[in-house]
Amino acid sequence: MAIKIHNTMSGKKEDFIPLEPGKVKMYVCGPTVYDLLHVGNFRGPVFFNLVRNWLEKSDYEVNYVYNYTDVDDKILNRAAEEGVSSKEISEKYIQEFEKDFKTLGLRPHTHNPKVTEHMANIIRFIEELEQKELAYKAEDGVYFDVKKFKDYGKLSNKNIEDLQAGYRIEQDLNKKSSVDFALWKFAKPGEDAAWDSPWGKGRPGWHIECSTMSRAILGDSIDIHGGGLDLVFPHHENEIAQSEGCSGSQYVKYWMHNNMLNFGDQKMSKSLGNIKSMHDFNNEYDAEIYKFLILSAHYRSVLDFTETQINRTIHSLAKFYSALALAKDIMSKGMDLTPVPDSFQAALEHAEAGIQEALNDDFNTPEVMARFYEVLKVFNQACRKPGKPTSQMGAIAESFLAWMKTQGELMSLFQQEPEEYLLSLDNRILQQKGLQRKDIDVLVEQRLRARADKNFEQADQIRDQLKEMGIQVQDTTEGTTWEVDKSL
Ligand SMILES: [Zn+2]
Repeated sequence: MAIKIHNTMSGKKEDFIPLEPGKVKMYVCGPTVYDLLHVGNFRGPVFFNLVRNWLEKSDYEVNYVYNYTDVDDKILNRAAEEGVSSKEISEKYIQEFEKDFKTLGLRPHTHNPKVTEHMANIIRFIEELEQKELAYKAEDGVYFDVKKFKDYGKLSNKNIEDLQAGYRIEQDLNKKSSVDFALWKFAKPGEDAAWDSPWGKGRPGWHIECSTMSRAILGDSIDIHGGGLDLVFPHHENEIAQSEGCSGSQYVKYWMHNNMLNFGDQKMSKSLGNIKSMHDFNNEYDAEIYKFLILSAHYRSVLDFTETQINRTIHSLAKFYSALALAKDIMSKGMDLTPVPDSFQAALEHAEAGIQEALNDDFNTPEVMARFYEVLKVFNQACRKPGKPTSQMGAIAESFLAWMKTQGELMSLFQQEPEEYLLSLDNRILQQKGLQRKDIDVLVEQRLRARADKNFEQADQIRDQLKEMGIQVQDTTEGTTWEVDKSL
């Protein structure tokens, strides 16, 4: 079955047919490295990591370029503010990005080009645009002559007249038209990021940087170009004008845009209030929570990044990890295993087929999550039982663990060590309730003593009290255990 991708250009889902059979050329706009990255900046990397995984799983060879914009006004401004060189700023924040990226456990991209490594290519690109009379030199730089590119506006559905009307108030007499954008900006006194060019010392504009890096590594035409929805206009529209204006052929076959995060208007506690950077989120919460939350929503929907959602995510993950920990525990009994029951095998196959179908359907990750829940439910029904695990439960536990590992890997999820990670999730839930493990242990101990003294009334009272606190007590042949209730 073909993969269907929603193409921003057509506004429709289209069958994915790459330019060259079996190969995918993919470019995703990376960060401008002038500050720590926001939690919103990583929705793209998490989502496009899945896109790449799924394309590879579908037997495509993927060449994935994710760039660093290390030349930009924001970097120059930050450098001036801090009294350091712009290179110091960009290198520092590339390193910070790489730390966050590593913490998130995403797969390295095939290429991570930097603008500073492509200056000669950028200059050549602008020269070609000039030869094709698509660029002209003005007082403060070199501009793209938007009116000369007849398809301008086709991605964002804007037309030049409307755009011009919008710009009228601050018309810039330096340019031929207010819609023209800079390809090369002449250096201002004191700026340290400046390169020699045929037009004078300066630096490239943002849009030409991406067009050039994409072309230098992947060629004139690519299969997928991704980025945040906020990049459709002007960034991607301008990339099309430059790239297609220069090569005369289609720049991108499928444009994919992920939507933004919504932080809501709810009052945020200390935990979320200060958490805007990925770095802080990873410290306060963790990467697994972030990825699960991101992939729970469809990439084209606005995602609520609120405490309520984070809480829900913690509870959901705890349910999965509790099952994984239980499966591992059953396996640890070392019993002889029966064959996996047909009904359980069928449930796994059904869910796997559902995951494939959902991913083929424009990466419908909420549907993928529903399939994971389906398997979770069947596993719990078969294995969450008092008493000694049977050999059939052992067989189910083994196949459940293997299935979760393989399917989870696609999403870059469920690869944590179950017991340890479950403990950390449970601790978060307890912390939210203002509870401490040792206080619960004391109550459980009191209940056991009451039972030993045949004071069943008191024992039941304590059990109810624990239940009220969201703690489930189980009496098994091997003793009494307690667990944090994962339902919300
Ligand atoms: Zn870009």
